[in-house]
Amino acid sequence: MLRITEIKLPIELADTLKHQDDQIKAALIRRLEIPESELIRFEIFKRGVDARKSHAILYVYNLDVEVKNEAKILARFKKDPHIKPAPDTSYHFVAQSSQNKTHRPVVVGFGPAGIFAALILAQAGFNPIVLERGKEVRKRTKDTWGLWRKRTLNPESNVQFGEGGAGTFSDGKLYSQIKDPKHYGRKVLQEFVKAGAPEEILYVSHPHIGTFRLVGMVEEMRNTIISLGGEIRFESRVTDIAIENEQVQGVTLHSGEFIPTNHLVLAVGHSARDTFEMVYERGIYVEAKPFSIGFRIEHPQSLIDRARYGKSYSDDILKKLGAADYRLVHHAQNGRSVYSFCMCPGGTVVAATSEPNRVVTNGMSQYSRNERNANAGIVVGITPEVDYPGHPLAGVEFQRQLESQAYVLGGSNYSAPGQLIGDFLANRPSTQFGEVMPSYTPGVHLTNLDTALPEFAISAMREAIPAFAKQVSGFDLADGVLTGVETRTSSPIRIKRTDDTLQSINTKGLFPCGEGAGYAGGILSAAVDGIKVAEAVSLSLTS
Ligand code: FAD
Repeated sequence: MLRITEIKLPIELADTLKHQDDQIKAALIRRLEIPESELIRFEIFKRGVDARKSHAILYVYNLDVEVKNEAKILARFKKDPHIKPAPDTSYHFVAQSSQNKTHRPVVVGFGPAGIFAALILAQAGFNPIVLERGKEVRKRTKDTWGLWRKRTLNPESNVQFGEGGAGTFSDGKLYSQIKDPKHYGRKVLQEFVKAGAPEEILYVSHPHIGTFRLVGMVEEMRNTIISLGGEIRFESRVTDIAIENEQVQGVTLHSGEFIPTNHLVLAVGHSARDTFEMVYERGIYVEAKPFSIGFRIEHPQSLIDRARYGKSYSDDILKKLGAADYRLVHHAQNGRSVYSFCMCPGGTVVAATSEPNRVVTNGMSQYSRNERNANAGIVVGITPEVDYPGHPLAGVEFQRQLESQAYVLGGSNYSAPGQLIGDFLANRPSTQFGEVMPSYTPGVHLTNLDTALPEFAISAMREAIPAFAKQVSGFDLADGVLTGVETRTSSPIRIKRTDDTLQSINTKGLFPCGEGAGYAGGILSAAVDGIKVAEAVSLSLTS
């Protein structure tokens, strides 16, 4: 198989997401200078977009190609960096279980990290037991809507907790900047497609799935794990970890039941604050890590589309490239970095607290991304050394303090405190919405956000928003809306593990995994970490 990169075709000739096979085939034959009869088959490995010239936008393909005489072509193009043998991106298991199934690994948490840890362990024959504090996804959906519609929070079943983990009600963006030399990301995407994700996620450069499909996929993956001999127990919160001689012996559930294991994957996500406390109290090594705090910002999606697509803006471009997104960074004069986080084109801002009497924002969208507003977190980086020194869990307390304050600022009824961008920049309270109606439910209470975050964060954001408007025209739209607070951007702690065995540095048999452990950020990277940890567990179980 050959990998041919950078085959470029004008977007106006494409259907929607890609060109027709005949068009790609013609370009390929031209590029390889071969007759059609020598081409056996091809598939799209990646499809990017080259929008540097707004009047001539291109789809850029990397293609995997089978030809009759591969050696001849490689010899002819030996100096051409765009025609090479295709690398092997298939997944290879590091170990398989023997017949002896007495030592079952336990996976705590069924978010992307736990799902992939359990899936790989199940596929390798290790019959994992999964313990998830929340409910199965359909019941969980009902509880999540309970907060959004009726202001009723279930602390065990919400946006953060339950089958599928934190990203189930999300935009389902599936890209990441992690280094991935072993192509684990490909394995994740292939499993998602098997579970019902659209095929295009395998090749488009910035894939997303949207909430509705994620729910079905999560159920499908659960069924696969069970069919392979895994066991998944919902409403099973782990409240304790038994450790003897620095070796994990098992876990206790909130019901009091004890489940013995010497191989425990802890994939509890960034919001499992009670679990972090328990882990710390058991003497497992935990350290504070940096994260970010800020607000959600909402603009009309049409403003973002026009700003991003510029002269090429048209219905056809919108149909092919979809609602536009942005990624922005500003280094403020006070030394803080402000950046856009988890941008959701055509989406909604969601209430994302898992604790009573607190307010947290985040964003989600459906696959179609066709809601009226674009939203993103606008967040400021903070570090333990400067902002919450002294204790490994001080970042959790810092988050809690901001979230409680936001609850009060919002009117103490789960409405989020909000302010128009113009008023925020001028530091005056907002009293009336303008052309942008916020999407956050159960509601937004207009106020002054000046006290919602520390002064350094507010002043950095006041500087950043006009700077962002130089890159995305209209970003400082006076009627745009800010809602707060965005605090769950990543884990405030790291449960430190060794680089080789991926076990806790002072507790054998404990495999910290995914975002909560401080080793991932986002659905794809958490899933990839789940695979890495499953491999480490497999090796440990068979050594
Ligand atoms: P989680 O997904 O948080 O899963 C942890 C699981 O552990 C939870 O289900 C929890 O109930 C369970 N658990 C916790 N404590 C215990 C315990 N003691 N016992 C048993 N079970 C326990 N990322 C993207 O890449 N793209 C996006 O578009 C995106 N949008 C997002 C939108 C929202 C609204 C939110 C909240 C997050 C979004 N994210 C997105 C972030 C993404 O969801 C997380 O990075 C990812 O889910 C982390 O995966 P994880 O498996 O490490 O942890």
